[in-house]
Amino acid sequence: MIKLNSFADNRLIRGCIFCGGQAETRDHIPSKCLLDRPYPENLIIVGCCYECNQSFSSDEEYFACFIECVSCGSTDPVELNRISISKTLQNSPNLRNRIEASIVKIDGKSVFTPEQDRINNVMLKLAKGHVAYELDLIKRDKPNYFWCGLLTSLPEEYRIDFNAAHVQENVGEVGSRSMQRSFVTKLSITDTNGKNKDISVLINDWVDVQDKRYRYIAIDDKGIIIIRIVIDEFFACEIAWEN
Ligand SMILES: [Zn+2]
Repeated sequence: MIKLNSFADNRLIRGCIFCGGQAETRDHIPSKCLLDRPYPENLIIVGCCYECNQSFSSDEEYFACFIECVSCGSTDPVELNRISISKTLQNSPNLRNRIEASIVKIDGKSVFTPEQDRINNVMLKLAKGHVAYELDLIKRDKPNYFWCGLLTSLPEEYRIDFNAAHVQENVGEVGSRSMQRSFVTKLSITDTNGKNKDISVLINDWVDVQDKRYRYIAIDDKGIIIIRIVIDEFFACEIAWEN
């Protein structure tokens, strides 16, 4: 990933971005357990206190293992693709048993049922991290919109919109990383009189942290903040706050 420094007025995000306490340590967004070695350069880090940092780790481990088990259709470490997750489950039989016990039979098919609170906790943490890092904003209040689930469960028309780059209507926080990543492009449009004309638009595109493993887009536009995340190209979330 390209290393970008924020030039925005970011006084608000100097402490722990989750609780506002002292930033005693740093937290990776996403956590390394969601990525594979070799890790990409310039991983995103945000300021965090020890307590918040610790409070997420077991849910993050569960989440990373759960989605790998779902992706591979098994909790057996030898059947998993990701080496790090295979090792984690080999070393944590309790965690493996817990995920195994969450499999239910529906119409003869084995379906993994998630521990939704833990997954929501991780997704909200990731979203808050992207808000702070990309947009130079802090969001500690409850989001106005929260969805997470399988990318394929989105209706096709909405999935296309979900995966698309965002055409920015209002300029966001000047100097933020999101604004630095945005680029201007020309679009040809046909006006109401049937005449073609070129217009310049500001495009805010997805950030690929690791190919096919983790991508996100952070949008601050028209008074709404939207974070979209896709993990392993099958698990997705969309979280929004009214600004
Ligand atoms: Zn904290």
